[in-house]
Amino acid sequence: MNRHDALIIGAGPAGSAAAIFCAQQGLSVALLEQSAMCRDRPGETLPPGIEPLLLQLGLADLQSGGFIRHSGNWVHWGATPRFSAFGGQPDAAWRGFQIPRRLLDELLLDRALALGVCVARPCQATRIICRGNAVVGVESDQGVFQGLHVIDASGAKGWLARQLKLARPAFSGPLLATYGYGKGASAVCDEAPHIMADEDGWCWLAKIGAGSYAWTRLNFTPARSNLKPPSQFTHLHQLSRARGADVTWRACHQCAGPGYFIVGDAASVLDPGTSHGVLKAIMSGMMAAHAVVESLTHPHQHQAIQHQYRQWMNDWFMRDMRKMRELYAAHPAPPAWLTGLPSGADNSF
Ligand SMILES: Cc1cc2nc3c(=O)[nH]c(=O)nc-3n(C[C@H](O)[C@H](O)[C@H](O)COP(=O)(O)OP(=O)(O)OC[C@H]3O[C@@H](n4cnc5c(N)ncnc54)[C@H](O)[C@@H]3O)c2cc1C
Repeated sequence: MNRHDALIIGAGPAGSAAAIFCAQQGLSVALLEQSAMCRDRPGETLPPGIEPLLLQLGLADLQSGGFIRHSGNWVHWGATPRFSAFGGQPDAAWRGFQIPRRLLDELLLDRALALGVCVARPCQATRIICRGNAVVGVESDQGVFQGLHVIDASGAKGWLARQLKLARPAFSGPLLATYGYGKGASAVCDEAPHIMADEDGWCWLAKIGAGSYAWTRLNFTPARSNLKPPSQFTHLHQLSRARGADVTWRACHQCAGPGYFIVGDAASVLDPGTSHGVLKAIMSGMMAAHAVVESLTHPHQHQAIQHQYRQWMNDWFMRDMRKMRELYAAHPAPPAWLTGLPSGADNSF
């Protein structure tokens, strides 16, 4: 039997951040990850706000990593393209990073291991264990793990919400993002990533390394989605096959409850147009870990702590969703589902 203060499911950025933060506070932590090794996956464009979080988690100075940096994004949403800068001082602009996800996931996992986190991989959580109404552990294909608190960081499929049959309502029409990678030369986005509206939705182009480019497309009507690279990248050598991911907006209101916290995409998903899914994953992982530490220190306050976490996550989702609705309302061909679905205007689910 494996007993830990914190049991975390999923070693993406949310799960690893939660594990590191818990271990930094002296808790015993187990981190379960179903895949045998870190994989290439989308999410390499990171906003400047990621830097202080990664430093707090103890990752070595990112400045020396040689990563591509950008001070904002080009937005082609109307007649005239505009540069949307992150901000900062004229002589010290804030800059984002392009960090391949496989590398980021490896860096975070190495840090967790160095802090003594028990990493079980490949290890798939298969069933939740409850005592009364409280989550107390999980069954996995590697045996039973018990935790005083379980943190679900399993990503967009929302493992724990499915296990507990928690509602995850949709706030958009069905949305499928397609994405791919190319090698070669393209001057189109060397200075900064571009997001470009078109008649079907939008497309995102970014340089992510020397001679390496990433693209993402979102069609507001999934039936019109396709796996072809955008015209600006057709001349590149396409690496691996293009893929698709369900990015329908959805959120689990009950993202904290007796014995559990839900973080990252497992708690809520907006499409990649928000461009800070990884930041939200890391920040919510750290916040849930903080909530676990507080719950262990002040057990009589656990309900108030769960309530505060739920409110923080739900407010963040609603704020982001309102911004996305504004962005899409200003699109030359706005999606039909913008009218008729909950707008979040009253800040409630
Ligand atoms: C096409 C596309 C482009 C994107 N581009 C960007 C971008 O440029 N910048 C950005 O910030 N965000 C981007 N995002 C969003 C970003 O990828 C996600 O928000 C982020 O990966 C969420 O991190 P996470 O840790 O919550 O989940 P994930 O990264 O999905 O990690 C979840 C982990 O849990 C594991 N797991 C799942 N179930 C189990 C189980 N039962 N047992 C054990 N392990 C399990 C999985 O194997 C996985 O490793 C993009 C998303 C898409 C689809």
